Amino acid sequence: MKKIEHLGIAVSDMAAAREIYTALFGAPYKEETVESEQVNTVFFQCGPNKIELLEATGPDSAIAKYIAKKGEGIHHIAFQVEDIEAEMARLRTAGFQLLNEQPKRGADNMRICFVHPRSANGVLIELCEPIKQ
Ligand code: ZN
Repeated sequence: MKKIEHLGIAVSDMAAAREIYTALFGAPYKEETVESEQVNTVFFQCGPNKIELLEATGPDSAIAKYIAKKGEGIHHIAFQVEDIEAEMARLRTAGFQLLNEQPKRGADNMRICFVHPRSANGVLIELCEPIKQ
């Protein structure tokens, strides 16, 4: 793993959250809806770091379920990897439980995979490999 790519924060009201985070970091650099994950995402830059806000677009969204259970807050830590297939294979062999079998398309031009929080002391880990354009 190369570095922390971003922190994901679950929010229940994107409009309100966007105002708060705009006050912290300035205007977001990207907004994207990921239909397959049923989330709206808004990305902010803070120096070299990124913050991703996540809002559910439907009741079946993992973000809706997360907020119902735990409330708003830090949802995941994303780590950038060089080769996501290789990293997934390495973690699988090491006994980590991956939440998807194959990399899937995430927001912000990334191929992603989640690691179950049960495997990492309660932290949901996202692996992400930037899609070369
Ligand atoms: Zn993320």
